[in-house]
Amino acid sequence: MKGVRRDPNHLSASSRGESPRRDPSPNPDSGRTSPRGPGAGFRSEPADSPAALKPKPAGTGDCSASSRRMTTSDTLIGQALAGAGPGGLRRGWEESLEAEQPGEGCAVAASEPPSPPQQQQQLREQPSGPQQAALPPPGLRRRPVRLRMRGPARALIGCGRSHVAGVSTRSLGPNMCLRRLMQSSQLQQAWRVAFLKHVQGRHQGAQRWTHPGGSTYRAVIFDMGGVLIPSPGRVAAEWELQNHIPSGTIVKALISGGENGPWMKFMRAEITREDFLQEFGRLCSEISKTSVPVDSFFSLLTSERVVKQFPVMTEAITQIRAKGLQTAVLSNNFYLPNGKSFLPLDQKQFDVVVESCLEGVCKPDPRIYKLCLERLGRQPSESIFLDDLGPNLKAAASLGIHTIKVHDPETAVKELETLLGFPLRTAVPNTRPVRKTMEIPRDSLEKYLKDLLGTQATGPLELLQFDHGQSNPTYYIKLANQQLVLRKKPPGTLLPSVHAVEREFRIMKALANVGVPVPKVLDLCEDSRVIGTPFYLMEYCPGLIYKEPSLPGLEPSQRRAIYTAMNRVLCKIHSVDLKAAGLEDYGKHGDYIARQVQTWIKQYRASETSTIPAMERLIEWLPLHLPRQQKTTVVHGDFRLDNLLFHPETAEVLAVLDWELSTLGDPLADVAYNCLAHHLPSNFPIQPGLSDCDLTELGIPTAEEYFRMYCLHMGIPPTENWNFYMAFSFFRIAAILQGVYKRSLTGQASSASAEQTAKLTEFMSNLAWDFAIKEGFRVFKEMPATKPLTRSHHTWARPQSLLRTPGTRSYITSTDSSPAHASKGALVFSPEGLSPPVRELYQRLKQFMERHVYPAEPELQRHQASAERWTPSPLVEDLKEKAKAEGLWNLFLPLETDPEKKYGAGLTNVEYAHLCEVMGTSLYAPEIFNCSAPDTGNMELLVRYGTEEQKARWLIPLLEGKARSCFAMTEPQVASSDATNIESSIREEDDFYVVNGHKWWISGILDPRCQLCVFMGKTDPQAPRHQQQSVLLVPMDTPGIKIIRPLTVYGLEDAPGGHGEVRFEQVRVPKENMVLGPGRGFEIAQGRLGPGRIHHCMRLIGCSERALALMKARAKSRVAFGKPLVEQGTVLADIAQSRVEIEQARLLVLKAAHVMDVAGNKAAALDIAMIKMVAPSMAYRVIDRAVQVWPASLLT
Ligand SMILES: Cc1cc2nc3c(=O)[nH]c(=O)nc-3n(C[C@H](O)[C@H](O)[C@H](O)COP(=O)(O)OP(=O)(O)OC[C@H]3O[C@@H](n4cnc5c(N)ncnc54)[C@H](O)[C@@H]3O)c2cc1C
Repeated sequence: MKGVRRDPNHLSASSRGESPRRDPSPNPDSGRTSPRGPGAGFRSEPADSPAALKPKPAGTGDCSASSRRMTTSDTLIGQALAGAGPGGLRRGWEESLEAEQPGEGCAVAASEPPSPPQQQQQLREQPSGPQQAALPPPGLRRRPVRLRMRGPARALIGCGRSHVAGVSTRSLGPNMCLRRLMQSSQLQQAWRVAFLKHVQGRHQGAQRWTHPGGSTYRAVIFDMGGVLIPSPGRVAAEWELQNHIPSGTIVKALISGGENGPWMKFMRAEITREDFLQEFGRLCSEISKTSVPVDSFFSLLTSERVVKQFPVMTEAITQIRAKGLQTAVLSNNFYLPNGKSFLPLDQKQFDVVVESCLEGVCKPDPRIYKLCLERLGRQPSESIFLDDLGPNLKAAASLGIHTIKVHDPETAVKELETLLGFPLRTAVPNTRPVRKTMEIPRDSLEKYLKDLLGTQATGPLELLQFDHGQSNPTYYIKLANQQLVLRKKPPGTLLPSVHAVEREFRIMKALANVGVPVPKVLDLCEDSRVIGTPFYLMEYCPGLIYKEPSLPGLEPSQRRAIYTAMNRVLCKIHSVDLKAAGLEDYGKHGDYIARQVQTWIKQYRASETSTIPAMERLIEWLPLHLPRQQKTTVVHGDFRLDNLLFHPETAEVLAVLDWELSTLGDPLADVAYNCLAHHLPSNFPIQPGLSDCDLTELGIPTAEEYFRMYCLHMGIPPTENWNFYMAFSFFRIAAILQGVYKRSLTGQASSASAEQTAKLTEFMSNLAWDFAIKEGFRVFKEMPATKPLTRSHHTWARPQSLLRTPGTRSYITSTDSSPAHASKGALVFSPEGLSPPVRELYQRLKQFMERHVYPAEPELQRHQASAERWTPSPLVEDLKEKAKAEGLWNLFLPLETDPEKKYGAGLTNVEYAHLCEVMGTSLYAPEIFNCSAPDTGNMELLVRYGTEEQKARWLIPLLEGKARSCFAMTEPQVASSDATNIESSIREEDDFYVVNGHKWWISGILDPRCQLCVFMGKTDPQAPRHQQQSVLLVPMDTPGIKIIRPLTVYGLEDAPGGHGEVRFEQVRVPKENMVLGPGRGFEIAQGRLGPGRIHHCMRLIGCSERALALMKARAKSRVAFGKPLVEQGTVLADIAQSRVEIEQARLLVLKAAHVMDVAGNKAAALDIAMIKMVAPSMAYRVIDRAVQVWPASLLT
């Protein structure tokens, strides 16, 4: 059985006579014995000797290395959100903030990479290769445990899920708590229940299995579940409740069978997980008389949400180790499905780790205690053992180990404190001794404080540093009875305007005066001589910080109350009268979002490392969808649950913390930012979220409810572009994470950590784009009523048009058909609606098609299949002359490109679209009317961007139909749908550009009439990504252009133009052939594509109409099984379906053309993207259905 040991004694090596070995060098990380060579783990000890238990798995070093890599990664990410140091998210925010502050420009990143020494240290500790060679089979390996930094460790006070800060519920004393509770109203009932739950067990008195003769203790051994992390029993109770399983089922099943029950076997790794779950599930079902999904229980039991070490234990372990005592974890645990053992602890906290599943023995078997003591090198009497289960304690006590029964971690720590004789809890949660690099001159500070506080301030100065706040280091100060918080700028050279503690002081002071709950600020000292940098002092606020947005442990009504209180306080901040608060000049007024968007685009571009498609789309989309109206209020800039300090007993916000990013701006940005957690999963590395939680069950408002609650309270209508704000908020975070990623590359971070951050950036940008799409749909649905476009347009049908004969598709949507230009700027979705001159053009075109083009098709087809196919057909040339003579020539040039109708017919995109559809009904038609690609795009390009000389030389022959051209962009070696990938080089040499490159799929290049190649290549690989390419006009007769071969499209050559694969070798082109200038290629390529897309799509629609007409004709005339095909239901359905799909696609394409006409090509980008998808797939389906009706004939 892979990964499973059946019998520890069986595996002992006594029978082989091997001598016991013990690695003399413990693993520096885990404290476990180090890996040895193959077979090294087998011992020849007596069966009950700890050394005889299990072969020692090799490869622990390897595992630790991985574990460290993850830690580095998580630290980076943790730093990112915590603002911990230069690599943090906070720095990104600072940069944005700087741009927001009056008189400041956009900040430039200027900090050193994140703590390389620490990372180097971690990297140095990674073990070397040979250890990896001795890896045991996967199931037997001691695997790394992924160590996550959960959420920002920067709350002013409190840690873990929630923490009573400053004055803890413990120090308030139960009586005081109860008295307060009794004073509270009925509303407080729920709080009371929760609070009593919280404090229960404290008075139960910890039971102890005592051992006579205890002396000085040298080691403390911890059980894991129930001591360091929540016990399986507790997790089971929660899970049973949620899953409607009879209470107690899991625990009963866990203890069932005693030592030989499935649970104990599983923890000794004697059975596989699958076998265990099967047996365990069966037991549970037997006990509860219902089916029990035990898999789901195990997922919860091992989920990151549940397995978090109790902060009080972390603190105690730190203190124990600080006093030089050893620590160990002695855990009954099991293997996870991934082959790792379940050990969700930071192993660095322990000198020794003993895991039952690795050893094949579990508590209360005395051998495992002995093993632990042996590894610690301690006598039983020198050790204390903490466990929550009586039998385990009893076994330990019988060996002479001192024991503590753990009912609740806090009480147990108190008892441990008494036994050890030194404190295990720091007075102020989340503080630590001041870091060496962050020390401040005590004497100078003490003198300053005494001057400030006067006579009351006597006694020694106590100084601690909060774990959070490396951005602006934050200290806890106690002097006499005064408890204060000091916040200062970090040392060193800083960017102007960031770390502006003066601003924090100012805003907090101002807000306190107008009733916003903030810590009371006492003093601002701008004199750097006192402690080296400016700082300010505020009162130390005791309270509760909720770090997890799901608020575990609270009742639904309490959760709702917390969210409501958060919402209210945000409304309060946004309602501050700037004038009354003296904050009118605290930031710029208006256009906040526009400035923010530009700032973050700039920041992102500065740290861009590869193309993230969603970011590219957002960069185009956000500036086009900016809110039109924005209020200006105080904005917090980082408003989220864990920046609020709550009353320990009520849902009252006592203080809003962390004003570092505050400014004046659009309040809705704060609200959207406040809702980010709703869209992140609960195990999200940098901030736990709610997206996978059942909010109704939890009692937490959805993001939409939360937003409505805000609007209601503010007395404003719900903002319709809410999704824009969400998109922006996620975009901002993605841009910040990209900065973190870039810095992690330049720093010493491991590739794993960098990769992880990169993935987060992409994840965030995709979320942002999801919101942009939602917003896009809203805009679309509300068009045109809510989207005032640059020119007037109309989409309503005239009433009489609706009375027309059904099926003629002849109604229109113009305002008025009388003026000649009525269809200009109107969304005309039927040719009937075109203005009379255009309608007349349309009619003439149709007639020309019927009279000349369709009849010529057989002959043109023959020519294309003949040996002369690479020579243009004389018939085409003839028809071209005819079309030109009838004025059916160059119809494609959009009015916008050619407003004076100098070169073309002056049609709008919508008008030409209808004509283009007609041309699409024959493959030969576009060329006959001089409206075929790629000439159309090239001509438009020349009209738009060409110099007069370029126009004279190239445009005129093309317009006259005397020459043809091609467009050379696509390259075989790169993904050419992204124009920025294009690699061919365009190098300057004297008065020439020298072109080298390999292109393919160059349509028209084989045509003997092709005189011009519009070439796209790279002029400056160092320039910003979108400015590296240029467009050059390359005459086809220039030496060095080598056509390698014509390519075929599913066997068709498309002669005479063809699609060529071409090499450009040292092709020298005069400098004046550059279009628009070097670096403008991307812009030109984009500009060239808009109308072309409409043309392609409308031609496809014409083609589909033709296929449908052929299908109908065939279905009517062909008889099968005694009746025409058209009478078959499926054929009819296919015809109907095709009609529907053509109509849908046409509407969408016309809409895109319309947006281009009235708002420009850029505004229509999304619509253009949509039609690119819709039209070809529709044509494919319609044509395929037609083929089904013509099967044999069409396939020859
Ligand atoms: C008949 C024909 C004529 C052509 N004529 C010309 C011409 O005259 N001149 C010229 O320069 N080129 C021409 N091309 C080439 C054409 O422009 C390219 O094939 C096209 O740009 C795609 O580039 P690629 O082949 O390198 O595919 P890639 O860029 O490698 O793309 C591969 C696939 O990924 C998809 N993809 C890319 N980005 C995304 C995204 N963001 N989301 C989802 N999917 C994505 C693409 O749609 C494609 O299906 C022609 C091609 C054909 C078939």
